[in-house]
Amino acid sequence: MSNSDSNAALLARRQAAVPRGVASATSLFAAKAENSAITDVEGRRFIDFASGIGVVATGHRHPRVIQAVQEQLGAFTHTAFQVMGYEPYVALAERLNAIAPFKGPAKSIFFTTGAEAVENAVKIARIATGRPAIISFTGAFHGRTMMTASLTGKIVPYKQGGGSSAPDIYRVPFPISHRRISVEDTMRALTALFYGDVEPTRVAAIILEPVQGEGGFHVASAELMKALRHLCDQHGILLISDEIQSGFGRTGRMFAIEHTGVEPDLVTMAKSLAGGFPLSGVLGRAAIMDSVEPGGLGGTYGGSPIGCAAALAVLDVIEKEELLTRANQIGAVIRSYIEPHLTSDEGAPLANFRGYGAMLAFDVLKNRATGEPDGARAKRIAALALEAGLIVLTCGTFGETVRLLMPLTIGDSDLKQGLKILSDAIAKA
Ligand code: PMP
Repeated sequence: MSNSDSNAALLARRQAAVPRGVASATSLFAAKAENSAITDVEGRRFIDFASGIGVVATGHRHPRVIQAVQEQLGAFTHTAFQVMGYEPYVALAERLNAIAPFKGPAKSIFFTTGAEAVENAVKIARIATGRPAIISFTGAFHGRTMMTASLTGKIVPYKQGGGSSAPDIYRVPFPISHRRISVEDTMRALTALFYGDVEPTRVAAIILEPVQGEGGFHVASAELMKALRHLCDQHGILLISDEIQSGFGRTGRMFAIEHTGVEPDLVTMAKSLAGGFPLSGVLGRAAIMDSVEPGGLGGTYGGSPIGCAAALAVLDVIEKEELLTRANQIGAVIRSYIEPHLTSDEGAPLANFRGYGAMLAFDVLKNRATGEPDGARAKRIAALALEAGLIVLTCGTFGETVRLLMPLTIGDSDLKQGLKILSDAIAKA
């Protein structure tokens, strides 16, 4: 390694060339990644409990995904689906339609980023219903574009100084039991919203994450989802499940909403869908998806052949390697390492361990008696873990939540070693 390739040298170049606005959880630069580990430019191996923010559920460079992409590279890389179609796009739509988390005919369309999927789901919902308004939740994260940031229920850092929001967006509290916000509180807020701010006949859709991602891995309970579904049915409002972080096996089901027994009308997908290649999509009830006139949907790169080939391989891997079952096994191992800390007086006080499958998180508190969150200490845990060779991310309203997003293909050795590092960091922080 020459000095110019060191993390410090690259960080200096990055700081001079790239704006501060794109923040990084580490000051490291990657040289190589394989399944559940990333090696940095200085040759140090890090166990990866971040998966590129929940993207490589099938691990870095899964051989099956890489092979599918290489085959596609050998054929063609881009035609624009709107100019000349290709089979992998259609095959992927067929495959996703067949596993849609709702009954009846489904259709799928593909884009590039998560925000783009959310933008389009909103557009489809507005056109299908002929209504303008959208309801989202406090703590929600739906993206950084104008519409998706407007739907996002957190100012710092996503919207700070960002000026005005897109119009016709309304927000209600997301129920979180340890903050004493109940499903009844949320439903009462919706009643108040319909009474004072927007009549339900103007509302196109309610959008939510079945497990809030950036907001802190708070689970939307079956009780909440059923109440929202009922309200939507009463008023002809569509229900959008944003599965961008929770989808594709992480929760032990293909889509997290399946845990609630509630059927959405539209589903947004990205991240783990394509194993590290930029691909997103909207899956929805066929009649709703077909409400947009030809030309109204798309994008030059939307549903790139490379992304579609990768996604088809990802779906094969999820099936063949039984990653839904593996997510639950990983969850059980995580639980065995974290649970002792929930009652221990040693190190950082933890609480509110939550989630489904392997999509698990816990809060770091100042002390358990007051329940006061401690974002600085959560950050210290992540920093101590990084020093010891583990990449782990924080999230939540006050940055107090440590979230676990390891690849579902992780072997027991990296899983246990990573959890040991995390456990030691908690004890030391
Ligand atoms: N929705 C959810 C639930 C997400 O977690 C994210 C990304 N963290 C997005 C939307 C936005 O995706 P992208 O960053 O690809 O635009």
